[in-house]
Amino acid sequence: MKFGFYMPVRLIQGNGCVREHGEVFGKMGKKAFIVTGKHSARANGALEDVLYALSEAQVEYEIFDEIMSNPTIEVVYRGAEKMKACGGDFVVGIGGGSPMDAAKAIALLYSQDIKEEDLFGGNYKDCLPPMVMIPTTAGTGSKVTQYAILTNDKKETKTSISSDLLFPSVSFLDPGYMRKMGRRTTIHTAIDALSHNVEGMISRRCTDLSDAMAKEGIRAFRDCAEALIQWDGETELSMEVREKLLYASTIGGMVIAHTGTTAVHSMGYELTYFHGTDHGRANGLLLAAFLKTAAGYMPEKVEEILHTMGVKTTEEAGKVLSRLLGPEPALTEEEIEKFAGISAGAKNIKNAPFELSKEEIVEIYRKSLNEE
Ligand code: NAP
Ligand code: FE
Repeated sequence: MKFGFYMPVRLIQGNGCVREHGEVFGKMGKKAFIVTGKHSARANGALEDVLYALSEAQVEYEIFDEIMSNPTIEVVYRGAEKMKACGGDFVVGIGGGSPMDAAKAIALLYSQDIKEEDLFGGNYKDCLPPMVMIPTTAGTGSKVTQYAILTNDKKETKTSISSDLLFPSVSFLDPGYMRKMGRRTTIHTAIDALSHNVEGMISRRCTDLSDAMAKEGIRAFRDCAEALIQWDGETELSMEVREKLLYASTIGGMVIAHTGTTAVHSMGYELTYFHGTDHGRANGLLLAAFLKTAAGYMPEKVEEILHTMGVKTTEEAGKVLSRLLGPEPALTEEEIEKFAGISAGAKNIKNAPFELSKEEIVEIYRKSLNEE
């Protein structure tokens, strides 16, 4: 078997790890450009820790805190303009996948002039400033991937900038930032991590190594599933569970860095684009029906995934997911047609080892969002 493995991100994990490593920031330059969302990085202490580490290392900084969920093309161009105006030797992304992806896109656009129509083209110069990521959700794995996913109004979906130049240099993993995260965000992001591990195993780019990692990620999720189902969201989830979910998301990121995501993500993007469904939730709603279709093409692989999830059938997997997600309004037939048309043309759906027909895509949407 021929394959490569490239994961050039230095990981530093542990409670308080940002404060303990001012020197990491100090080595990157004299001024940091911090990219984050509107609220959470202040509330969970991540921003304060970064500012402490920067002051220890005598590094100046500028903060751009305008990143919304599912960041737009407009906001990353605006962020890059601000960075050009105030300068910066490196970029620090703090938050969930949205600020981390935006930080990557801003680093890219700061380093070179790229017209909007060429943004997703993949033809970039190797002159990006170094990037440090500090995830505060345990889902996307953006801290270890070469992807930045942006809302693409022209295509009415979300599109990925993909380039090895977007790998961060260093990512700090502190589960403490997730301590007070609410039930919905915790579950949605955890299911995103599950989805990365599962889709990675049903990718034409998977290898024995990525499968071994994916199974480890699925097991980590499985170990947390019951605690998440039982959790009322009022009390604090144990730090052991938080740490395991962070682990599942880190592995999931490493997996998709090699395999890409596939149909579940392409189809989920439409739910997010048109209905504002949280990214991980969108994947979770579609995952069981996708597995059922995939079982027709690669029964043994799906069997292996189900076994690792600790369930026997795709229906049982669907039940676990719906206990986690709760009810979701149905889509209309017109919406299903439209969404299937868009996702059938997406780049990542082609990562699946089998070609899904438009009818199959329609059927997955229908089973996931239009049947009792
Ligand atoms: P997110 O959009 O980054 O954040 C969701 C919400 O959670 C925001 O309201 C955010 O608040 C809040 N939040 C963040 N950290 C929190 C914490 N510790 N406690 C409480 N609330 C917190 O969600 P995400 O699921 O992490 O990221 C989704 C994005 O990542 C999507 O755009 C998706 O397409 C992308 N993605 C990227 C990759 C990749 O490889 N690059 C892979 C999969 C998905 P604030 O807005 O105030 O920060
Ligand atoms: Fe994802």
